[in-house]
Amino acid sequence: MNYYAKPIANLIDQLSKLPGIGPKTAQRLAFYLLAAPPEVAADLAGAIGEARSAVRYCLVCGNFTDEDRCLICRDERRSADVICVVERPRDVVAMEKARSFKGLYHVLHGAISPMDGVGPEQLRIRELLKRLESGAVKEIILANNPNVEGDATALYLAGLIKPLGITVTRIAHGLPVGADLEYADEITLGKALEGRREMK
Ligand SMILES: [Zn+2]
Repeated sequence: MNYYAKPIANLIDQLSKLPGIGPKTAQRLAFYLLAAPPEVAADLAGAIGEARSAVRYCLVCGNFTDEDRCLICRDERRSADVICVVERPRDVVAMEKARSFKGLYHVLHGAISPMDGVGPEQLRIRELLKRLESGAVKEIILANNPNVEGDATALYLAGLIKPLGITVTRIAHGLPVGADLEYADEITLGKALEGRREMK
């Protein structure tokens, strides 16, 4: 990359670290930012900095928020007796886009994966069990991704939650196997939720 001036090489290098951005796209974005009016780059840098410092995890569900509790946890119109468990904040967005769920969420921030050194204690499982102590929750919908790690995590959670007398369901496997929730289209995701089955 020595045909770029150092600051350009650095910018391309930083951009290419982003997911889905290869060297060519990184170069295109960098050249765009350099050719555009200065405020384009300044606004982008500002937005990144502000989001990074203002956004944190919801104290209740683990979703992204800029207050103690996220927009969904603060919404009193949502049913507090059903919690949908997902792996990542982006899965909350995917479920919300499907528009068929009106309960609350719990974000685990991952899935059990011994190969990657992720055990149950690395996930927000303790926080989930704490939410169940009040007895207000009647159903837990496990919307972990339909892959080996997601299934293993769902099975583990069902083993913990069913003895509490709470109905545990798993979203239907109409989802493409091995795929992430966020890549499922809204109708597929809505159907997967509708077709959820109780875990025996
Ligand atoms: Zn929340």
